[in-house]
Amino acid sequence: MGKDRSPHVLVFPIPLQGHINSMIKLAELLALAGFRLTFLNSDLNHNRLLKFTNFATHFARYPGFEFKTITDGLPLDHPRSGNWFMEMYEQVIETKMKQNLREMLLNISPPVDCIIGDGFLGFSIDVAKELGIPIICFRTSSPHGFWAYYSIPDIIQAGELPIKGSEDMDRLITTVPGMETYLRCRDLPSFCRAPDMEDPIIKLVVKETRRSTQADALILNTTEELDGPILSQICTKCPTVYAIGPINAQLNTRLKAEHREPHDHFSNTLWEEDESCISWLDKQPNRSVIYVSFGSITSMSREKLVELWYGLINSKAKFLLVVRPNFVTGDEGEDDVVCELLEKTKDRGYTVHWAPQEAVLNHPAVGGFLTHSGWNSTLESIVAGVPMICWPYFADQQVNSRAVSEVWKIGLDMKDVCDRKTVEKMVNDVMVDQKEFSKSATELSQVTNRSVSVGGSSYNNLDRLVEDIRVMCLKTPQKMMAS
Ligand code: UDP
Repeated sequence: MGKDRSPHVLVFPIPLQGHINSMIKLAELLALAGFRLTFLNSDLNHNRLLKFTNFATHFARYPGFEFKTITDGLPLDHPRSGNWFMEMYEQVIETKMKQNLREMLLNISPPVDCIIGDGFLGFSIDVAKELGIPIICFRTSSPHGFWAYYSIPDIIQAGELPIKGSEDMDRLITTVPGMETYLRCRDLPSFCRAPDMEDPIIKLVVKETRRSTQADALILNTTEELDGPILSQICTKCPTVYAIGPINAQLNTRLKAEHREPHDHFSNTLWEEDESCISWLDKQPNRSVIYVSFGSITSMSREKLVELWYGLINSKAKFLLVVRPNFVTGDEGEDDVVCELLEKTKDRGYTVHWAPQEAVLNHPAVGGFLTHSGWNSTLESIVAGVPMICWPYFADQQVNSRAVSEVWKIGLDMKDVCDRKTVEKMVNDVMVDQKEFSKSATELSQVTNRSVSVGGSSYNNLDRLVEDIRVMCLKTPQKMMAS
């Protein structure tokens, strides 16, 4: 069938904040290229976006941009904390979501010409292949994370995993091509610490990662300048890779070219942003504040939070701390902890439940970021030129923090330690002594921002992706049209 309309692309993230963030920005980039878009979100997250953001009015400007919803299978009042992710994965993702996706694709009009599926939702590859729709996987984790996940079976095969009880965690892992000189045992994705390599989460991560390479192509949120050596390794498994990131910066560039404000004050977060912290930052001297935030999933024991807080208080820096709802685990309620902190930190710090992170990182008062090393947070910090102190929690964060400290040399890695003395020292190193991090972070920010400017590598790769989707859509007959 000849298609004389613009390609219709379905973008489908797994229901997690970090994944939604980058995938909705990719959807907007494709809408700017003139494509028709359907963004498929979980019911719950769609409702939260409606409640806390202006996304509905924001996207109304793109004719043909539609939001559709799908259940994540858990009851709406489920707290979605603790082990909820595996619960959702095991109970519903492969069954209910797959079936719903298939039905939706069969009934949608105009038909979908290309799916951009979250690399963690490998079942969408099966559905796409069955229906004859081209599919591109978007892996929202870092290339370092993706490649380490992919290599787990080889690491096991070489006898470098599992980690034994008395293991030296600084031992180098030699079987991940491209990372032989800096990847230590402790930098492997968190799941690798399991004593049993048959652990369900390891099996799942390996399965989904290897499955991503069966898609027609792979999109990664990075630049060739940041991750060139790792991208070359990934290309040996999946020849068509588009490195189009950092997506937040790419979107800002393209919006500016359209004479629109960066993001146009669009927020895509699942909690209400507390803008009051910007007014507080406005009153602080340049580069005097360390921003402390651990993303959307991490939780922390009361004990650790108190240790962290003492480290901050004892350092010479001011701080802006995010304590998300459900962040603190343990017997004592989160509210007690937050109230106690708020009371004692009034003159040295400011605490919010959720911050407008990109605006915070780009604020002149912010001179450092104490982060859990989630990939979006890492990229946002790189783009803003803010040095990091990394305190990774899980998944790719362990390897991201190693790249920050050893490959890009734009911060310190605090993994596996959280005592007040270390926090104090690292905060002073980054904020007061500023060592070499401030300079290297500024330089990396410049290189990274150039890659999303006209003629830069990520800019060109996005143009190539847009063109390839157009060609793909023209060529592909759709079985679903006949059914
Ligand atoms: N974020 C935010 N406000 C906050 C904390 C986080 O807007 O107070 C955003 C942040 O900008 C990032 C995302 O939430 O885009 C977190 O994604 P990341 O990959 O860093 O971590 P995850 O939440 O997936 O662990």
